Amino acid sequence: GQFLANMSHELRTPLNAIIGFSETMLNFPIMYDDVPLPSSYEADLRQIFNSGKSLLSLINDILDLAKVDAGKLEVVMQPVDVEPIVRAVMSTAVGLIGSKPIELKRVMQPNLPRLWADESRVRQVLLNLYSNAAKFTDGGCIELAVREVEEGVLFSLHDTGTGIDARDLNIIFEEFKQASNAGNRGRDPRSGAGLGLAISMQLLNLMGGRVWAESDGVGRGSTFHVVVQRYAEPVKQPELEA
Ligand code: ADP
Repeated sequence: GQFLANMSHELRTPLNAIIGFSETMLNFPIMYDDVPLPSSYEADLRQIFNSGKSLLSLINDILDLAKVDAGKLEVVMQPVDVEPIVRAVMSTAVGLIGSKPIELKRVMQPNLPRLWADESRVRQVLLNLYSNAAKFTDGGCIELAVREVEEGVLFSLHDTGTGIDARDLNIIFEEFKQASNAGNRGRDPRSGAGLGLAISMQLLNLMGGRVWAESDGVGRGSTFHVVVQRYAEPVKQPELEA
């Protein structure tokens, strides 16, 4: 765990330079006396930028898992509003979908209670789910439903994508594991390392929540459910009369 944590740090520093400079070259010609980038360079440079970002997110995932294994991943629990999280995550999801014909929908129960959770980690989990839904759906819709349940607040993300074979519904939460139908995609650059769901599950364990998957089978879409604890508002003591 310690070795991985150190290595991840050493890898991130040069990687941030690669990402930062390639992004500057692509988007900020003003930094180069306004000399425009020759168009023949652009596709390769974009590849450097995108590969750098994928590698960074992989390293971040490995670092998180190393911390979990070493018992060093900490979550900062506090009362968290649901609405701003959903809004932020959905606006990122628009970018993940790109130009695919996918409609993003949301159905939120009014007056949801606050969560008792680490806000950035809840966002990370939901983004992982959106990122998968966007990867494995070519068209149709991705719908987020949020409602209060006995255990807390339930987030259900449904997509009309490839779906998951019933035998794989638990396996996909293991590290470096993918659903067998995903294998048909070969070295699809979109398929990741198989760490997103493993990390999501660990994070939810730490926050006292849980995650599970459902699918009507291959070709019939999937639904990922996440439950996060609700914040128990402290009971106000009646003021004592003098
Ligand atoms: P990654 O997406 O990087 O491979 P994950 O741990 O996030 O890793 O997901 C593991 C596997 O679960 C994926 O490779 C895929 O086979 C399956 N999977 C996850 N989400 C979906 C989804 N929305 N639709 C179909 N398959 C999915």
